Amino acid sequence: MHELSLAQSMVSELVSYIEKNNVKKVHQVTIVIGKLSGAEKEPFEFAFPIAAEGTLLETAELVVEIQKVVILCNECRSETTLDMPLMKCPSCSSRSVKIIKGKEFIIKSMEIE
Ligand SMILES: [Zn+2]
Repeated sequence: MHELSLAQSMVSELVSYIEKNNVKKVHQVTIVIGKLSGAEKEPFEFAFPIAAEGTLLETAELVVEIQKVVILCNECRSETTLDMPLMKCPSCSSRSVKIIKGKEFIIKSMEIE
């Protein structure tokens, strides 16, 4: 499962932060998964506790936010949030667009003690 290796690398990143900063308890971890990141919310939520077992993250609440795809048009410079990845500007119909959001897979925040 792809998400398990993602969860494991995220957990090891968080654990090294926890160790460096003398964190005693982690209440909540919020992550952002872009629609085009290749990861899915449900499998990640399933994989995270497996990866977090035996660490301080084990009891933390996991919050997963989905980032929709946002494109920037190279012609008219308008930004559009899309439900479906459609590589065309809805304002001027240009196909010269760039994806500026939706590929991320990041740790947004961690509530710690
Ligand atoms: Zn445009």
